[in-house]
Amino acid sequence: MTNTSKHAQCKAMVNGSGPYGYFNQYQCSRKAVIGEHCKIHDPASRKAKQDASYQKYKVELEETRKLCTLEKAAPDLLEALEHILEYFPSMFSSEGSMSVSGKKVRAAIAKAKGE
Ligand SMILES: [Zn+2]
Repeated sequence: MTNTSKHAQCKAMVNGSGPYGYFNQYQCSRKAVIGEHCKIHDPASRKAKQDASYQKYKVELEETRKLCTLEKAAPDLLEALEHILEYFPSMFSSEGSMSVSGKKVRAAIAKAKGE
């Protein structure tokens, strides 16, 4: 490509093809339309794209985290545990015969809710 147009060539270096492309870089052949870079290699738009993909990653991570909690994975089981604590409070009180079980149930509920 000749540089007869009003735009210079993009200054970015691009990796060559293949697994060792990094060692075989060449200058981007696109026109520099934003400062010294083409649309693709403009640092500001690259950062915006990275930020957008990071936001998407964070949303997906949160969805995965929710799925990993019992609240989403087995809501019936969580409801059953909460039901037990609600209807048999004396049984699971600190003096009750099942205080150890009560602690375990409470811990399981907290864990299930991701607390
Ligand atoms: Zn470029």
